[in-house]
Amino acid sequence: MKILVMNCGSSSLKYQLIDMENESVLAKGLCERIGIDGSKLTHQPTGKDKVVVEKDMPTHQTAVELVLSALLDPEHGVIKSMDEIGAVGHRVLHGGSVYSDSIVVNEDVKRVIRECFDLGPLHNPANLMGIEACEAAMPGKPQVAVFDTAFGQGMKPEAYMYAIPYEYYEKYKIRRYGFHGTSHMFVSKRVLDFAGLDKKSGKVIVCHLGNGASISASIGGKCVDTSMGLTPLEGLIMGTRSGDVDPAVLQFICNHENLSVDEMLNILNKKSGVLGVSGVSSDFRDIAAAEEEGNERAKLAFDAFIYRVVKYIGAYVAAMNGVDAIAFTAGVGENDARARERVCAPLGYLGVKIDAEANKTRGKEIMISTPDSKVKVMVIPTNEELAIARDTLSLI
Ligand code: AMP
Repeated sequence: MKILVMNCGSSSLKYQLIDMENESVLAKGLCERIGIDGSKLTHQPTGKDKVVVEKDMPTHQTAVELVLSALLDPEHGVIKSMDEIGAVGHRVLHGGSVYSDSIVVNEDVKRVIRECFDLGPLHNPANLMGIEACEAAMPGKPQVAVFDTAFGQGMKPEAYMYAIPYEYYEKYKIRRYGFHGTSHMFVSKRVLDFAGLDKKSGKVIVCHLGNGASISASIGGKCVDTSMGLTPLEGLIMGTRSGDVDPAVLQFICNHENLSVDEMLNILNKKSGVLGVSGVSSDFRDIAAAEEEGNERAKLAFDAFIYRVVKYIGAYVAAMNGVDAIAFTAGVGENDARARERVCAPLGYLGVKIDAEANKTRGKEIMISTPDSKVKVMVIPTNEELAIARDTLSLI
């Protein structure tokens, strides 16, 4: 069975066609500038040359049709008939408090996705457009929604409530939801296997460190806590997002700089994080290079980023009354040995010991702690598309 995985943004569509017999990627690609002049599709069949199709894509509907014709194309296609696609799995940002698991799309599911437009204003409308475009292009084909907030639904009320007047929770569902859920779920489950931990009681911390960064604590794969909140702005310091700040900072800067709350939020989302502190870049490779050249603010940005991760790990060990394994994933977590080494260095109190040689490995699954380390530490590459495809297959 082949599963098509879709990730729709407001003007983009990423896809992968995965053969679930051996979980191999048959083709992947990206539609850019949907609804904007100069739209194009980049289609990459595995083992063949990349194809770029420059064609008008006024809507997600036309983008989906273009993707399907690329997949079916006699030359650079990878399937002969649409019947080979068993189902479509969609990444959906927000399922509110309704969905703690993936679900086959029906009218009710679409209504909930629509009701969550408020909570995910940039993503949910595009996610729904993607679903409806696929329904129109492939009538009768099962569509599955995989929610980025599903994993965070494991949190207990004491972990997800903000200590603000309760009426805001009742009226607007203001609470912590957590994001990167598909990644945290995929990696934390894999950790239980890879580290040979008990499937029900294994205590795992996953550090998803990329341009967006978040951290989760889970027991037996069930989320205890995760660092992102109502939106992905809360928690760790990220490429361009501030992570945790005292809300009074907003009021102070708005008053002094004559900014609106929306403008301030834009600064916290897009101009803060390691970019804001360093003034150099949001890319951790640029930060490392600037630090090498003696840039003090780049060093400060990286130090602050590491410090916040270390602080959250301590909090999550306390929340779970222990930890069996810590995993690193995403761009920085999978590739940056120095970041992993710096996060683990202050964890001696937990009995963490890192094998410096193993830690040099990049981008592949590996245990980086020594055999006598009390906590197992590892790198587990994340694979959100495969997680979506697996959930989709299990539901149809
Ligand atoms: P992601 O959002 O998961 O794609 O991660 C993107 C981030 O990973 C960027 O900031 C990259 O600089 C960072 N990254 C990728 N490769 C490396 C590497 N070898 N060393 C340090 N950072 C890296």
